[in-house]
Amino acid sequence: MNAPAPQFFAFDNTYVRDLEEFYVRWKPTPSSKPVLIRLNDDLARELGADPVALASPEGIEALAGNRLPEGAEPIAQAYAGHQFGGFSPQLGDGRALLLGEVIDRNGERRDIAFKGSGRTPFSRNGDGKCALGPALREYIISEAMHALGIPTTRSLAVVATGDMVRRDRALPGAVLTRVAASHVRVGTFEFFANNQGPEHVKRLADYVIARHYPQLADSAQPYLDLLTAVAERQAELVARWLGVGFIHGVMNTDNMTLSGETIDYGPCAFMETYSPGTVFSSIDSAGRYAYGKQAGIARWNLARLAETLLSLIDSDADRAIKLATAAIDAFPEQHAAHWLRVFRAKLGIDETGDAEADRQLIDDFLLTLKHNRLDFTVAFRALFDAAAGNAARLQTLLAEATDFTDWQSRWQARQSERPSELLAAMQRANPAYIPRNHQVEAALDAAVEDNNLQPFERLLAVIQSPFDERAADAEYCEPAPTEFTTTYMTFCGT
Ligand code: AMP
Ligand code: MG
Repeated sequence: MNAPAPQFFAFDNTYVRDLEEFYVRWKPTPSSKPVLIRLNDDLARELGADPVALASPEGIEALAGNRLPEGAEPIAQAYAGHQFGGFSPQLGDGRALLLGEVIDRNGERRDIAFKGSGRTPFSRNGDGKCALGPALREYIISEAMHALGIPTTRSLAVVATGDMVRRDRALPGAVLTRVAASHVRVGTFEFFANNQGPEHVKRLADYVIARHYPQLADSAQPYLDLLTAVAERQAELVARWLGVGFIHGVMNTDNMTLSGETIDYGPCAFMETYSPGTVFSSIDSAGRYAYGKQAGIARWNLARLAETLLSLIDSDADRAIKLATAAIDAFPEQHAAHWLRVFRAKLGIDETGDAEADRQLIDDFLLTLKHNRLDFTVAFRALFDAAAGNAARLQTLLAEATDFTDWQSRWQARQSERPSELLAAMQRANPAYIPRNHQVEAALDAAVEDNNLQPFERLLAVIQSPFDERAADAEYCEPAPTEFTTTYMTFCGT
């Protein structure tokens, strides 16, 4: 009697097919009164889906988890993870479900997954739900990261469920549809290394190589090379985070992907005043995941990945440890090279100079920002303005900085002329707009408390075009009032 399930996506689900035992088949919990809050039309088209169909009542039912689209094979993935340094042997998708995979218009395989779709066998004490505010927060920040050119999971849709979620008070619930290169995490490897053994780890590693690192398929040392390749992507990813002042906030191993995409926008935030110790997360009182600690943590997480791969790397345990250690020890240098590339672009200087001298030049500017308590984004954007012929903003910012005049002449001497490509690259390295914490909170407040999505839509439009400054959007360049930033806290698992 049932009408055939609507087809929104051309699913092709390799994880389900190839990795039996790595997940539990599960169904989303239906939503009582789904309302579409936001649909990412461009992303839908990129995935080969029709945004009009997705916004139809049937589409909304699908995005709310009420009616499975044809070809979806929802699963909760198993994973473990080191959280704040301690091992949790069983985490898994406690409030998420992987619906399936599609090949996008660029030929890339992408996961389509729900977050907030109800309890699963991995929910432990959680309710499996997501409140509307955090779903919108992930939408904004992930789309901002994408617009900034940083590898990230994307957000396809947010549907309000019509059900309340109990937190410190009752809040409207939502389902976020997330799109990722894959959801395989360091914690996925840890789960199978800990609970099953090398055969399972090998199957997972082979899957990851085929999906994300096909060039390694014929390598003589595929698992060692996999470790090095994952490290390389993380080295670059964290360098790019640092370049925009991004603080992930909860870099547990279950929140680090093998694909090299940023994932799990929980307590993340963008730094305002430059200070490497900046932390916003309420649960990170020790500052483990502070802005300036992120590269070291990425390396620590990669060491946890390495441990799961040891027996695949070499049957001789000592040799395996030696090889894996060498791969992990290469991380700081990999990262430093990416960091230098990112910050050279921010200073608008080419790649030909002496690396040590350039690093010093960058560090000295950062030190000036720190001493003068300057906003990271504003100050670097002012550098770009100066390079583009408008030095007024930089002069005003640094009028009272005693160490600045000398720095500026060193900077000018280092790159006396900028070809247009270098200036364009400098612009792309120095956004005018980031999702400022006070703006994000105001947008979420209006959406959740007043049912007013206008500030959310406006902020989204601003951050989707971060590099061209627009007079009408001037307020979005402004740092938060100091009182806001000094007390700002972000929350995890909300
Ligand atoms: P996160 O902090 O979001 O990275 O999540 C860490 C772990 O807790 C994952 O296994 C999540 O699935 C689980 N988790 C977080 N929030 C909930 C929730 N509300 N209900 C069930 N599980 C959750
Ligand atoms: Mg997580």
